[in-house]
Amino acid sequence: MSPFLSNSHTHSIYCDGKNKPEEMIAAAKANGFVSLGFSGHGNPGFASTWSMKPENQEKYIQHIRSLQPSHDGVRIWCGMELDAMATPEALEITRGLDYRLGSMHYFYAADHAPQADGDPDVLIKYRDEEFAGDGIALTQRYYDIFVEFLNREKPEIIGHFDLIRKWALKRQLFDPESPVYRKIALNALERAFPCGGVLEVNTGGIARGYLPDPYPTQELLNAWREMGGKVTITSDCHDFNNLTCAFDQAYDMIKQAGFKVIHRLGTGDALWDEVEI
Ligand SMILES: [Zn+2]
Ligand SMILES: [Zn+2]
Repeated sequence: MSPFLSNSHTHSIYCDGKNKPEEMIAAAKANGFVSLGFSGHGNPGFASTWSMKPENQEKYIQHIRSLQPSHDGVRIWCGMELDAMATPEALEITRGLDYRLGSMHYFYAADHAPQADGDPDVLIKYRDEEFAGDGIALTQRYYDIFVEFLNREKPEIIGHFDLIRKWALKRQLFDPESPVYRKIALNALERAFPCGGVLEVNTGGIARGYLPDPYPTQELLNAWREMGGKVTITSDCHDFNNLTCAFDQAYDMIKQAGFKVIHRLGTGDALWDEVEI
């Protein structure tokens, strides 16, 4: 069993997840979880195939709220994952939630827009047309959009910080080991620090077979610890079979970075409990 008994990045049938909230909670209980947070993809204010439909968002919130404060002995939290391109109107519904998880997927506000973790052919075409094939320039754009959004919206959780790495090696989008890229990512992390969010170590890329390691890299995690940042572990779960995917690996990375505590969704009234490593 994993040493980390919670997950704040959980999807369900309300967006692009496979399971009903109750099924996800049953899996959480089976894994000995003390808490579980739902983070359905908030509708960004434009058509988005994998986000909740506007008319389903209230139902989602009501459903998750109906399972609170706890269900089957697991403390339940109601959040949403917001996209950096979400319109101000679309963000309104997210303000009263228990927490918000801020992520960068879309490069501009349209469903056919290139996405950091979307269709790699679309992303490569965008790199070639918008940046004359310069993948590093693409990563700079990615981080600039993300950092501005994080500092503006101040979400409680910073989602998959270096998601742009997803297609770096598999499709040669850019070289993630190059000093110039690593400097851009480190600089972005420093600029994001003032948003105050807890950085997730997200194993979703492993669960879905894209990457051998979580977001972010060990190097970024080490830097975050030096800055005094806070961390949590998540599986970006879309299928209850992957609820604790690679949690041991994430835990080891956090330990290796020198963190003394991990933030875990609370079991009482406070959003976070600090768990000693
Ligand atoms: Zn995401
Ligand atoms: Zn997600």
